[in-house]
Amino acid sequence: MAFEGLAGRLQETFNKLRGKGKVTEEDVNQTMREVRLALLEADVNFKVVKDFISRVKERAVGQEVLKSLTPGQQVIKVVNEELTKLMGGTQSKLTFAPKPPTIIMMVGLQGAGKTTHTGKLAKYLLKQNKQPLLVAADIYRPAAIKQLQVLGEQLQVPVYSMGDKVSPVEIAKNAIQYAKEQHRDVVIIDTAGRLHIDEALMDELNQIRGEVHPHEIMLVVDAMTGQDAVNVAQTFNERLQLTGVILTKLDGDTRGGAAISVKAVTGCPIKFVGMGEKLDSLEPFYPDRMASRILGMGDVLTLIEKAQATVDEEKARELEKKIQKAEFTFEDFLYQLEQLKKMGPLDELLGMIPGMNKIKGMKDLKVDDKQLSHVEAIIRSMTKEEKAHPEIINASRRKRIAMGSGTSIQEVNRLLKQFEDMRKMMKQFSSMAKKGKKKKGFK
Ligand code: GDP
Repeated sequence: MAFEGLAGRLQETFNKLRGKGKVTEEDVNQTMREVRLALLEADVNFKVVKDFISRVKERAVGQEVLKSLTPGQQVIKVVNEELTKLMGGTQSKLTFAPKPPTIIMMVGLQGAGKTTHTGKLAKYLLKQNKQPLLVAADIYRPAAIKQLQVLGEQLQVPVYSMGDKVSPVEIAKNAIQYAKEQHRDVVIIDTAGRLHIDEALMDELNQIRGEVHPHEIMLVVDAMTGQDAVNVAQTFNERLQLTGVILTKLDGDTRGGAAISVKAVTGCPIKFVGMGEKLDSLEPFYPDRMASRILGMGDVLTLIEKAQATVDEEKARELEKKIQKAEFTFEDFLYQLEQLKKMGPLDELLGMIPGMNKIKGMKDLKVDDKQLSHVEAIIRSMTKEEKAHPEIINASRRKRIAMGSGTSIQEVNRLLKQFEDMRKMMKQFSSMAKKGKKKKGFK
């Protein structure tokens, strides 16, 4: 999962601060030194880090913060706000043309995930009741056209292609005409990429741009390439005036620097992030939620949205309430497990639960299917009462559950402990959220 290193280091730093009743200017300076190192290590652009630290310091050493009742929390709040601002402040949405079709041009280097994300974006738009048309304008990469056609078939979305003998400018132009005739309301053009930025590529993209006047020029960049991704974004932006960035492969082991620096360096907002190879692993980018995730405050909103997309609405609302009230039972947990397989990789979801990465052992937890089926078996071996009130599960009940599920007492103990920790974290978070609501402006 992205940001793991950064999130871990920041949380360690803030834990030290949080415990202090009184925070001095020197404490803030020390914290900021550690935050600075953590950001640099996560591959955030040097200048971005420098500006960020000076802004946070300026606000954090103010008397209002240091003399407040919870100075540690206040410093974290400032970091959270500034981090959110750095990534663009609010969500940048797709721009739709007042009169359809909306034209979206996908650009980027080879291998960044352009074709895959053309498909993902089409799926995302289908869910919003749009009628996309995909355009195969990458005539150079062998199999690029075929790849797009396969995606189109999967999604049951038409793909406009003129083979690889016609110029991409011509293809794009004809595709728009076709879209108008067929009443397709969004046209997504998959353009060619190269291994490196070169003049010929930029010229061709500029020609397409000049011909079709896209409403969105989206750069697809690979988060795994760190600062390179930011450099690529800067160059593309200078040449093409991008309207947005899709940062891909954020599900991988990236340090995350690109997500934090892109907007600050290029002025161009990240609109979506790619979280996997599957067509539904595209998420709109919310700077505030991302900041919370990085700071270990979890991302309950995205978690709930994912639940709503897969789970039926009423159940999702129930889950939301239960998480807020920390009344989550094993019965809910079991239900969630069943839905989980539909929702995406478990470690990614766990990362969205507030405080999850603070729980000892949870951070490095790699969940495989076998482990999952053990967990499921353990819960199924509990009685209804035990599921609702796990605190009644004493030693003899644990033994019975282990026998019944074909697992060991250690495994049962582990699950109970993890579950208890999880509930505690939810409780803490919900009381934090409640306090936050009372204190004006506190997130
Ligand atoms: P293009 O050359 O830019 O069109 O790149 P492709 O769309 O062909 O993608 C290159 C590779 O990256 C493929 O193997 C994709 O499955 C993979 N890929 C694309 N997006 C993601 C993502 O968000 N996460 C992961 N893990 N892999 C991705």
